[in-house]
Amino acid sequence: MQKFKTKSDLSFYLSSLADPLIGFVPTMGALHNGHLALLRQAKKQCSVVVCSIFVNPTQFSNKEDFNSYPNTLSDDITKLEKINCDVLYVPDVSDLYTIDEKTKHYNLNGLDNVMEGKFRKGHFDGVATIIEKFFNIIRPHKAYFGQKDLQQILVVKSLTKQLNLPIEIISVPTIREENGLAMSSRNKLLSPKQIETASMLYKSLKFCKTNKDKFSITNLKNYIKIQFSEQLEVDLEYLEFVDANNLQNISFFQENNNAICIAAYLGGVRLIDNIIF
Ligand code: AMP
Repeated sequence: MQKFKTKSDLSFYLSSLADPLIGFVPTMGALHNGHLALLRQAKKQCSVVVCSIFVNPTQFSNKEDFNSYPNTLSDDITKLEKINCDVLYVPDVSDLYTIDEKTKHYNLNGLDNVMEGKFRKGHFDGVATIIEKFFNIIRPHKAYFGQKDLQQILVVKSLTKQLNLPIEIISVPTIREENGLAMSSRNKLLSPKQIETASMLYKSLKFCKTNKDKFSITNLKNYIKIQFSEQLEVDLEYLEFVDANNLQNISFFQENNNAICIAAYLGGVRLIDNIIF
């Protein structure tokens, strides 16, 4: 695997390849099987797979969350080598941002005002800023994102369209722990007991899906909120029933493209998940 710390070395290398089909998987490291699923799919569909590991400061509205973000670079490199990732880009902040650089503001068609955007102010401007930079440096043909971050996928698709970039955005299904908890780098910050408790996020989503014909959205939402209020270790931040294409709230289930999205805190660790049906 080729490793690069600077965008100039990386783009020089990529431009030296003869007719590559470049697949790109952006990550913040602390790699788990969810990330590896993205990389495996990219390996199947592309001739050169580039993985980036970069904890992007502009997408964190909470300094503590940024500072406590897990860093396991040498383990990550072992995992990437094992699945034959071709290129790793691990830049310092100074390779991507000038000292006084401000986050750009994007028009994300309202996608950034709800759910994650509402509770993490400026988060998607930060995501769009870094993704635009990565896309310009790497110029991938395909870029892979996890369905766990549904809102991020829609934001990246909207950005790609606005910038008129010839990049296919590919969504990869969520990989889960045995108890249903969506894999996340932040799970490393949870105790075994908290991991067990955290399984209630996905169990709640599945309950709503299973009972979609029996109860109204209002009743399902109230029922799940009560379950969470009885579980003192977990703080529910939001539970939204939305159209999976535009994230607008729905009052009734549609034939398809229903998404239920959830965010909750467990002992200071923020977890998100969703289910689409
Ligand atoms: P992150 O390192 O958390 O920024 O995630 C990098 C990419 O991996 C994003 O596109 C995520 O949506 C994706 N990802 C994270 N967790 C999972 C998971 N459990 N299953 C599938 N994809 C995931």
